[in-house]
Amino acid sequence: MFQGGVKLIDFKEISKEKVIENLQPPEKVVIPLSQHTGIPSNPVVKKGDTVLKGQLIGENAGFISSAIHSSISGTVTGIEKCPLPGGKTSPAVVIENDGKDTSIEPTKRNWQELKTEEIVSIIRESGIVGMGGAAFPSAVKLTIPPGKKAECVLLNGCECEPFLTADYRVMKEEADRVVEGLIIISRTLKAKKSYIGIESNKRDLVPLLRDTINKFGADTPIEIKVLLEKYPQGSEKHLIKSVLNKEVPSGGLPIDVGCVVFNVQTALAVRDAVCEGHPLIERVLTVTGLVRNPKNLRVRIGTPVSKVLEYCGAEIKEGMKIILGGPMMGIQVYTTDTPVIKGTSGILVLPEEDLPENIQPCIRCGKCVEVCPMRLVPADLGKYAENQKWDRCNEFNVSDCIECGCCSYICPAKRPLVDLFKWAKAEIRKVEVK
Ligand code: SF4
Ligand code: SF4
Repeated sequence: MFQGGVKLIDFKEISKEKVIENLQPPEKVVIPLSQHTGIPSNPVVKKGDTVLKGQLIGENAGFISSAIHSSISGTVTGIEKCPLPGGKTSPAVVIENDGKDTSIEPTKRNWQELKTEEIVSIIRESGIVGMGGAAFPSAVKLTIPPGKKAECVLLNGCECEPFLTADYRVMKEEADRVVEGLIIISRTLKAKKSYIGIESNKRDLVPLLRDTINKFGADTPIEIKVLLEKYPQGSEKHLIKSVLNKEVPSGGLPIDVGCVVFNVQTALAVRDAVCEGHPLIERVLTVTGLVRNPKNLRVRIGTPVSKVLEYCGAEIKEGMKIILGGPMMGIQVYTTDTPVIKGTSGILVLPEEDLPENIQPCIRCGKCVEVCPMRLVPADLGKYAENQKWDRCNEFNVSDCIECGCCSYICPAKRPLVDLFKWAKAEIRKVEVK
């Protein structure tokens, strides 16, 4: 088990038993060309073009980039600026739905007959990115740097953020596809062993996952690890510590300790791309919080948040907060025109937040230090950031902060520590690129 972290009330009972429903594609999708870590994709369509479901509309623009595909069939009405979570924007391909849902001809394959490079190439061309939130291109993760070796693969089924239950439902309803995806990833990396990490609030999945693993008779052993509930266990570094008792060094990556971590839905997307020829054009997300009908929904990428909320009976009033993701690491949206993207794990509607005047000076209680899973001293870092002492922030490793929010959550003075650290990191980056 990792040091620090917090035990949170999980609020998962709101949607845990809700079977995944398919949301009908909207009349119009807005598909951002920058919805992954790395360089935005280059558009390969223009206004007036007709496109099919699954057709390439944005191509990889570099090693760390991703392909983007149309999630519906219809006509491109333009390439426009669209809102992203956190007040950012991106150029996006806007497509008007023709209502036919005509798809490209998918290529079915027997993955066991494919070479490693072919599998990685299919994953790259299918636009698969990490679906836990970070949206890091999966083909890059599968390209191991010289001198490193992937000894094991961890399937991240923790879903440790409160409220979210989409990954739980995917494991329950699609166990076959998830496990097959894990086997494909493992075999591609030539890993000796794989693990499925879940928290104890998903313990009921163990018999199903075990039966599924046995059914595949994988030649690479897969072990299921049931972990005590503790946030942020779903962070790669902390999952590795909990499952393997290995520490990823400061500034390092999981591969530095011989490990590669994939999210549950990413494994499923890998399997669907490799075996069925389906690019990544939809995902399952949880819609929860102050909505009349909380749900786990399969949603086409590019669907406006407003359409999803409408389907779930949300009445958005002034001051309410809409968060894409969970309450701890999710990012607020300021307009419901924001589209669902590949990394959208949930849509959470919360009541009005505390007003800024409730923020008090630090009382040096030390609680933030106790809970920081990265062993930082948030109280001091917060003070340096407030005073714009970026060199001090850098010296005291603000770049190691994973923005988990444990410090802000526990702070009795309600200090906006994570916001301060995001600001500090952005300022340090500005200096580094000069
Ligand atoms: S947000 Fe950063 S500083 Fe705060 S607890 Fe998490 S890792 Fe530590
Ligand atoms: S938890 Fe808040 S009040 Fe306590 S030491 Fe940290 S910043 Fe200060």
